[in-house]
Amino acid sequence: MADSQDLTRRGLMFILSSPSGAGKTTIARKLLAVEDELSMSVSVTTRPQREGEVEGRDYFFKTPDEYAALVAEDAFLEWAEVFGNSYGTPRAEIMDGLALGQDFLFDVDWQGAQQLSQRARADVVSVFLLPPSMEELEHRLRSRGTDDEAVIQGRMARASDEISHWDAYDYVVINRDLEECFDKVRTILHAERLKRERQRGLIDFARELMR
Ligand code: 5GP
Repeated sequence: MADSQDLTRRGLMFILSSPSGAGKTTIARKLLAVEDELSMSVSVTTRPQREGEVEGRDYFFKTPDEYAALVAEDAFLEWAEVFGNSYGTPRAEIMDGLALGQDFLFDVDWQGAQQLSQRARADVVSVFLLPPSMEELEHRLRSRGTDDEAVIQGRMARASDEISHWDAYDYVVINRDLEECFDKVRTILHAERLKRERQRGLIDFARELMR
């Protein structure tokens, strides 16, 4: 007899986007630390491995030829050229994981979010984080203390462009306070896991209840 304990669910693709400095990386780290069923999607890249990066954890590092072969066999859910290097999201890892109830976190820009939504709409949940104001965004970028003036100005210009795509997302959260923002993003994840279409076995379970 079906039991609600036995119900498995299909995983989801949780996309977090924001302009640089709006808190995306911090929120992503906090989510990964507390959500066992959520893991970061690991991309393939042709960019050289940086010191401290681990193969399979940060990226799968490939030569341009290996990468081209993967594109040819349609192995990517989405891909992009960024700063002269190629990046792609491996389709098989994600699809196998989703079927097992694994959720994946994607830290991608609006173009990545758009491609993923087009290719896997039913599995995608997209969240856009907005800064409370452009002054606050600039303040946060400066207080990192890692970038020089030209880089900060470049990031501010790109932030404006990124923000213009806010209305393509399923959810928008304004990051006024980190903890409050984190709670809201986590609530979205928890609610989306309960979506009827993601709960496999519900039809049989409900039939059993109605017998
Ligand atoms: P980095 O080389 O510094 O790790 O990443 C450079 C840029 O590539 C970042 O903006 C990052 O979000 C983007 N990126 C990394 N992996 C992927 C991917 O699989 N697809 C897309 N579209 N962008 C990616």
